[in-house]
Amino acid sequence: MYKNNKAPYAKKIIAITSGKGGVGKSTVSANLCVALAQEGYKVGLLDADVYGPNIPRMLQVDDQRLRWNEKDKMIPSQNFGIKIMSVALTTPSPDTPLVWRSSVAVSALIQFLEDVDWGELDFLVIDMPPGTGDVQLTMAQELPITAALLVTTPQNISCDDVSRAIVMLKETNVHIGGIVENMSFFIAPDTKKRYEIFGKGGAEKLSQIYDIPFLGKIPLDMRIREFCDLGKPPVASGDKNLKKYYKDIITNLFKTCISLKV
Ligand code: ADP
Ligand code: MG
Repeated sequence: MYKNNKAPYAKKIIAITSGKGGVGKSTVSANLCVALAQEGYKVGLLDADVYGPNIPRMLQVDDQRLRWNEKDKMIPSQNFGIKIMSVALTTPSPDTPLVWRSSVAVSALIQFLEDVDWGELDFLVIDMPPGTGDVQLTMAQELPITAALLVTTPQNISCDDVSRAIVMLKETNVHIGGIVENMSFFIAPDTKKRYEIFGKGGAEKLSQIYDIPFLGKIPLDMRIREFCDLGKPPVASGDKNLKKYYKDIITNLFKTCISLKV
């Protein structure tokens, strides 16, 4: 399929997607971006979830409002060494609902790709909304996505939605870099007992069925939720173990997807 390139300023483009909401796409996107920036890469994060834009709070830029520069380009917010753009930065207040038809949502995202002063980027990471709709289709058509990264919980219901996302990515010729299992297991902080709250092995099963690299597991951990609510990504603020989950995913992604090398 012929690909447009609305982001020629980015050397590599990673789309973080799943099919289902609430599985941790935004959390994974924010932490992977911070981890890439910690390794010295120039990183931009586009929050493409126009109806539930959570990235600004997770990266503590939610009190910032959109500004334009002298070239009439939108200035992305910056924190943790990454550039961030989200519709949440354009609304009068954080509780303004975005009641948009999908054509408007898609136009807004195209504008973010074209009219934001991203500068030169090594990686443009796109945090996708849930589902397999207009936004996913537009991104697949308008961008040469280097790799899509799938996020799922082990639960069957999440894996069902992810299977649909996988088929859509294959049909639109988007290369799948791998799959991450989030909320994989829970270790009780007091007893250290392990619980598989959302079931077991869902992502590994998908990786076998669809022949997709399995990139790693992230536990369900209260500290991850707390850090994200505080706008302090665990990969920047957490302990060594917490950081390692996200850093390992990047290491594995670079191993399995050599086209991501910059
Ligand atoms: P999505 O973008 O797929 O809708 P989010 O990243 O917003 O999902 O995550 C949904 C909720 O779950 C958020 O409140 C987030 O803080 C929390 N969360 C995500 N991953 C974890 C995890 N591994 N442990 C604990 N809470 C998590
Ligand atoms: Mg999200």
